[in-house]
Amino acid sequence: MQEKLPKPWDPYGKVYVLRLGHRPQRDKRITTHVALVARAFGANGFILAGACDDSVERSLRRTLECWGGEVEYECGVSGRRKVEEWHEMGGEVIHLTMYGVPVDDVIEEIRSSTRPKLIVVGASKVERYYYDAADYNVAVGNQPHSEVAALAVFLDRLYRGRELYSIFYGARARIVPSPRGKTVTGGVEC
Ligand code: SAM
Repeated sequence: MQEKLPKPWDPYGKVYVLRLGHRPQRDKRITTHVALVARAFGANGFILAGACDDSVERSLRRTLECWGGEVEYECGVSGRRKVEEWHEMGGEVIHLTMYGVPVDDVIEEIRSSTRPKLIVVGASKVERYYYDAADYNVAVGNQPHSEVAALAVFLDRLYRGRELYSIFYGARARIVPSPRGKTVTGGVEC
C-alpha cells in the first residue's frame, strides 16, 4: 500500500479528470496520454466515461507501479452522471473547450475556490449538455489543438507550476535529472 500524503502545494485534495468520448479503436494512445498527464501534473483521479479500456488502465497502473504516486481510476461510468454526482457533493465542473473563456480570465477564481474540481475533456464532438452543466467552460487559447495539451496547460496554471516538483511516493525508480544521458535510481527498469 502506498503512503497517502497530501501534496504540499495542493489545497484541493480532489482534482479529477473526466475523459469523454473515448473510442477504443482509435483513442487508446491519446486517452492513455490524458491519464498520464493527469497523474504527472497533479490530478488525484482519472475517470474514463463510457466503456472501460484495459489497455488504458494497464498503462496507467504500470506507470504508477514503477514511477509512484496515487491516481484513482474509474471507468464504465456515464459522463453525465459523474457531472451530476460532482455537483451533488458540492464540487465544480470545469470543461476544457476552445470555445470557452480564456484560462487567464478565470484561473484565479478557480484556484481560490477549494471546491473539488472535475476537469472534463472531450475526444471528438462534446455534447451540448456539458457546456450547459459546466461551472466553467475554459479555453486554452481559442484554437483547436489537443485534450492532452489543454489538460497539461490547465493543470500547470492551476498549480502554478509547482506540480512539476512533486514527489511521487512509492516509486520503484526515480530519475536524477542530468544534462545528458539517463540517470535512474532504484535499480529497476521501467
Ligand atoms: N471539435 C471538437 C469540439 O468541438 O469540441 C474538438 C475536439 S479536440 C480534438 C478534443 C478535446 O480537446 C476537446 O473536447 C477539448 O476538451 C480539448 N481542446 C482542444 N482544443 C482546446 C482548446 N483550445 N482549449 C481547451 N480545450 C481544448
